[in-house]
Amino acid sequence: MATQKDMREKSQSTVFGTLARIIRTADVTPRMRRITLGGEGLDPLLVGTRLPADAIKLYLPPPGKAGFKPEFSVMPSDENPFSIRAYTIRRFDPVALELDIDIVLHGDSPGSVWARSVQPGDQIGFVGPRHDYLGIEGVDWLLLAGDETAQPAISAIVESLPSGTQAHIFLEVSNQFDELPFQTNADISVTWLHRGDVASGKSDLLEQAIRRFEWQDGVPYVWVAGETGIVRSIRHYLRKERKLDKELLHISGYWRYGLNNREFDLKTVQEYQAALAAGKTIDDHHDVDQVELELP
Ligand SMILES: Cc1cc2nc3c(=O)[nH]c(=O)nc-3n(C[C@H](O)[C@H](O)[C@H](O)COP(=O)(O)OP(=O)(O)OC[C@H]3O[C@@H](n4cnc5c(N)ncnc54)[C@H](O)[C@@H]3O)c2cc1C
Repeated sequence: MATQKDMREKSQSTVFGTLARIIRTADVTPRMRRITLGGEGLDPLLVGTRLPADAIKLYLPPPGKAGFKPEFSVMPSDENPFSIRAYTIRRFDPVALELDIDIVLHGDSPGSVWARSVQPGDQIGFVGPRHDYLGIEGVDWLLLAGDETAQPAISAIVESLPSGTQAHIFLEVSNQFDELPFQTNADISVTWLHRGDVASGKSDLLEQAIRRFEWQDGVPYVWVAGETGIVRSIRHYLRKERKLDKELLHISGYWRYGLNNREFDLKTVQEYQAALAAGKTIDDHHDVDQVELELP
């Protein structure tokens, strides 16, 4: 069986910084806005391996600075208050040279404000892409789970599965209006979990549903992404109680309750450093954001 490690070595993730143009925007649900990027700035994406759930980091302009052109080696500061945010490539069309990202709208965060206000013709800088799903060969079924930030990645993964593959999907969203249909040749079961008025990042619906899930025979591959505290707790269950081999599991903290993305990155690095100083490995330490450490 090819493991995640084998797949990582086989696949190429070329990281670059580039400037793309906004082609169009659309509301795919009341709380999710699709932004289509295009233009020659996407040329570098034609090189290397593109996989479902590849992610990029957008360099979002400071408020009121529409013509902002980022320097990719520069980090945000008080003097230069732009924001860097990660989003999944929901769709990449190498012929039309277009890509879609689906952004969850939540309050007045930099990502939400930008997604609501950006206009066709505007430019946006981004770095990436980076793989967040490698797929592994020789497994019998998949379990894919997450909140609405993981919906673009899970949709892209599901679309890529060949017919005959069995996949069980668990998605936690606020209500039925956040649900999007899946297009796939695979044999899927979908469980939507509605958190209603409970704050995003504070619900245990996803973990409870995964705990209740009747485990199938054969070799599974489990992919989970969402709020960091929630996915860590699911990771704990899968590794310690289910005894799932780490090569059959991919867990990503996509955001962290109460921290903006910059604070989240800093906290992640501090946690790694503390874990390493205590003689632990990254694997002992329940951290899940290798993603955050590898991008600039
Ligand atoms: C590899 C990867 C792929 C991702 N793909 C997507 C994607 O396709 N679509 C997508 O929308 N997000 C995606 N995310 C998550 C996204 O990067 C974070 O949600 C990010 O924090 C959004 O930035 P912001 O400016 O909206 O909020 P921030 O300024 O980072 O945070 C402001 C406040 O909002 C909270 N917050 C952050 N995200 C959410 C949320 N979704 N719901 C409720 N509260 C939140 C924070 O805890 C903080 O308190 C991805 C993350 C990673 C690492």
